[in-house]
Amino acid sequence: MDTDALGTFTGDIPRLGSPLDTAIAKARLGMRAADQALGIASEGSIGPDPAMPFATADRELIVLVDDAAGIVVWETHSSWDIVNATTTARPGEAPRRFLAQAGFPAQQVIVRPNQGAVHPIHKGITTLARLTAAVAECAAVSTDGRARVEPDLRAHACPSRQTIIAATAARLGRRLAARCPACAAPGWGRVDVLIGVPCAWCGTEVARPRAEVDGCPACAHRATRPVVPSGAHADPGQCPACNP
Ligand SMILES: [Zn+2]
Ligand SMILES: [Zn+2]
Repeated sequence: MDTDALGTFTGDIPRLGSPLDTAIAKARLGMRAADQALGIASEGSIGPDPAMPFATADRELIVLVDDAAGIVVWETHSSWDIVNATTTARPGEAPRRFLAQAGFPAQQVIVRPNQGAVHPIHKGITTLARLTAAVAECAAVSTDGRARVEPDLRAHACPSRQTIIAATAARLGRRLAARCPACAAPGWGRVDVLIGVPCAWCGTEVARPRAEVDGCPACAHRATRPVVPSGAHADPGQCPACNP
């Protein structure tokens, strides 16, 4: 399937839907092509971590679409263990240290102009010969005479992502093995987190998880699981009123 039509990592085709919408659309593309009622697809989002702006996080999502049972079940998993360095090169140069650190050629690379021009973009490079040719071509159209060399973060080209996707798949497997206590559908698990623990001094709600809500993909059944003991209070040092 041409899943690039749903948006690309390199940004040349923007993504329109949420990661969940995109993953469901991918699964349905495959289901339609194979004439199956069951489909599975993954979608990753890679970028700066909002909590740690200098770290790159990979958030993976895997969805199972089951039209026979009428359910959609997904799981997510985030990790910082993803290759993320970028470098530049002039014609005739191969950034050998960058390539060694990235794990080239198992980790494939992308080459594009460093400044000005958007095209050409060479993806999926696995040989030094292709890399050298791509650097020469992209540097020639870049306003600073350099090509940008970066890891190809598409799942099949990025071993560090594959490890994270595998962990996400294991989570989805565990979720599918859990059945709803009300209707026995598979996919019982966390659907929401309740935030707000009262400050020990003034009672103002501190933005910490208070409980997790489990839910069923097939029926409206929900159950709340406290993650702090009942009557627990938050440290006034974290309180927006006591310690603004
Ligand atoms: Zn307080
Ligand atoms: Zn249910």
